[in-house]
Amino acid sequence: MSIKLTNKNEIINLINQHDGEYVIINNPEYIFPEREFYRLADRNLNPLKMLDAVLMDMDGTTTTTEELCIHSLEYMVRVISGLESHLIWPGLDRTEDYPHIIGNSTTKHVEYLIQKYHKGIKSDNLSKAYIFAALWTLIYSQDLNRVNEVKVNLKKFLPVKDSAVFASIIPDKSNASKKGFAELLKSAAKKFYGKLHIHGKDDIVRASIDIYYQRYHEILHRIKKGESEKLQKELGLATGKSLIEPMQGTPVFLALVKGLLGNEADKLTDELISDYIRKDKSFLPPSSTAGIWQKLRRLGLYFEKHPVKVAVVTSSIMYEAEIVLSQLFEEIRNVIAEWKINAARKKRILERFSSPHNFYDAIITATDSSEIRLKPHRDLYSIALYKLGVPKSSFRNVIGFEDSESGTIAIRAAGVGKSIAVPFAHTQGHNLAAATLIAEGGLPEIIIKNNIFIKL
Ligand SMILES: [Mg+2]
Repeated sequence: MSIKLTNKNEIINLINQHDGEYVIINNPEYIFPEREFYRLADRNLNPLKMLDAVLMDMDGTTTTTEELCIHSLEYMVRVISGLESHLIWPGLDRTEDYPHIIGNSTTKHVEYLIQKYHKGIKSDNLSKAYIFAALWTLIYSQDLNRVNEVKVNLKKFLPVKDSAVFASIIPDKSNASKKGFAELLKSAAKKFYGKLHIHGKDDIVRASIDIYYQRYHEILHRIKKGESEKLQKELGLATGKSLIEPMQGTPVFLALVKGLLGNEADKLTDELISDYIRKDKSFLPPSSTAGIWQKLRRLGLYFEKHPVKVAVVTSSIMYEAEIVLSQLFEEIRNVIAEWKINAARKKRILERFSSPHNFYDAIITATDSSEIRLKPHRDLYSIALYKLGVPKSSFRNVIGFEDSESGTIAIRAAGVGKSIAVPFAHTQGHNLAAATLIAEGGLPEIIIKNNIFIKL
C-alpha cells in the first residue's frame, strides 16, 4: 500500500482511465465523507479453465435463516409500538420493507424501520420491551459483545447508580430458571420502568437494536437446545421443515466443488433436478436427463482433481454464525445420509461436513469488520479473499453468491466480476442490477445450466 496526497483533477484523470461501473454508497450521518465511490469489477461470465475460490453469503443464500431475522425485526416493531396482534397490524411489507431489511447491517435495518414506523412507537411499550431485552441479555446471552453493549446502553438510558444496579444482575441457577426470570423481570420493571429515559432517534435505534438481537438470539439459543420443532409452531412458520435448512442445491454444490463426489456426482441428478424445481417453479426438466447426469459426472471428476477453496461471508456476527452454521451442517448431514452413493465415500463426505470449521477454508463474519464497513462495502469479501490466499491476478477465477442488493455489490466492489444473485421469495423486491447474473433457479441452475462456469 502506498499513499499520495492529491487534488480533484488527478482523481478525475484516474477515473477516466476506466470505463466500467461505479457504485455510490451514502454513509450514515456520523461518518465522513457523506458518500464513497467504489469502482466495480467488470461483469464477466466467461467459462473458466480453473476455478480458485467460491465465496458465499450465509443468510438467504446458504441457509433459510433470513426468515428468522425478518421475524425478529418485525417482532421489534410490534413490541415497541404495541402492535402485537396480527389483526391490528399484518406485519412488514414484502415489497416496500423487505429490500431495506435484508442484506445490510443490523443497524441499517433497524434505522430504516424506526424511520418508517416511528410515529407508532409508544414510549411505555418501548420501555417495557427494553427492560425485558436487557434483562434477558444479561442473564442468558452467551455473546459477551451483546452483554457489554447492553451495559453501555443502560448507562445511557438510566441514572448512573441505577444502571450499575441493573447491570450487576448476575446469572445464577435461581434466576436463570423461567420462574426466576419472571420474578426478576417483575422487580426490574418496578424499579427501573419510571427511570428509563429513551428519547430521540439515536436512543430509540440503540434500544431497538438490543430488542432485535434479544429476540433473534433467544430463537438461536432455543434452536441450539433442540427446541426447533416447538419454536416452529410458536412462530407460525410452515411445519414439516426445520427452522434452519440448507437453501436448495447447497449440499450437492458444496460437496461437488470440494471434489468430494468424484465419479459419483451423477448419482445426485434426481436430487438436483427436484431442488431446481422447488427453487424455480418455471423450470421444466428435460424429458431425458442423460445430458445432466453426464455433465454432473464430468464436473465431479473435474473438481476431484481441482478442489476449490470455499468461504462463507456474512454480515451476521460470529456468535450467530457459529450457531446457524452448526445447525445447518446437522441438516446437511441428514441430507447426505440419504444420498445413494458408495458407503465409504459417504463416510468421507460426512466426516468433511462434521463441522463448519472442518469444511470451510474461511468463515468471515461481521465480527471481522465493523458495523459501518459491512456489505455493500467490500471489506468482508476482501478479507475473505485475503484469508483464502487468492491473489488479485486470480480474482477472475472466483465466483461470489449473494441473495441481496448490498451483497451483490460488495462482491464486485471486492474485485470479483462473477457476482451471482440467487434470489429467494423474500428478496424478490431487491434491486439486483449490480449482479452479473440473476439465477432464479439458485445453485441448481448454476450447476445444471452454467456448469459452475467451468469450461468442460
Ligand atoms: Mg443474505
